[in-house]
Amino acid sequence: MTPPEHQRQAYLRALGIDVWKTRDAADAEQPAESMTAGGLSWSELRACVANCTQCSLAASRNNTVFGVGNPDADWLIIGEAPGAEEDRRGEPFVGRAGKLLDEMLRAIGQSRDTVFIANILKCRPPNNRDPKSEEAAACRQYLDRQIELVQPKIILAVGRIAAQNLLASNEPVGRMRGRPHNLGGTPLVVTYHPAYLLRSPSQKNKSWSDLCLAARLAAERST
Ligand code: SF4
Repeated sequence: MTPPEHQRQAYLRALGIDVWKTRDAADAEQPAESMTAGGLSWSELRACVANCTQCSLAASRNNTVFGVGNPDADWLIIGEAPGAEEDRRGEPFVGRAGKLLDEMLRAIGQSRDTVFIANILKCRPPNNRDPKSEEAAACRQYLDRQIELVQPKIILAVGRIAAQNLLASNEPVGRMRGRPHNLGGTPLVVTYHPAYLLRSPSQKNKSWSDLCLAARLAAERST
């Protein structure tokens, strides 16, 4: 699908490319602030995120963290926001929590290369504070487009921030996990963040049952 003209212009501006336009086109153009990611290709989306200044986190980030994995994945893993190491490396879920996520994925026959991993926010909130609602709202267009492009069979919301943002809920993870949810027609399962599991290893059995539920829902959509 070809993106609308105003979106193409905003994209080119984000890349620092001067855009010549007719008077009519200039009159019809919407301001950059209203740009949405709908209709962008993977490479266009990646470039938009890399150059994004739509919330204040752009000023303090070292790197945007776009997401990694298989663009045609059956599983889409969605976490919260980059931490210090993720911000430094530009990759989600690194460090001890990332290693535990890798183990969780391995347990269900998946890996970092077969799933796609993304976050609610593409930039690190200072001091690892929770994302602000306006930051999550500004960044949501990128995640929504990633979901559209991946078309996963199952979404795994990892941790409170991801689950509450995706499901527009204030419930704690303990009440959202253990049952199927729906996000725009895609089944979604909530589970604990691996960083929490490192602090509370007794909850690992619950996260295993969440993964089994997600695997079952994914399998049902494959038949
Ligand atoms: S967090 Fe999202 S909306 Fe904010 S600057 Fe980064 S990419 Fe843009």
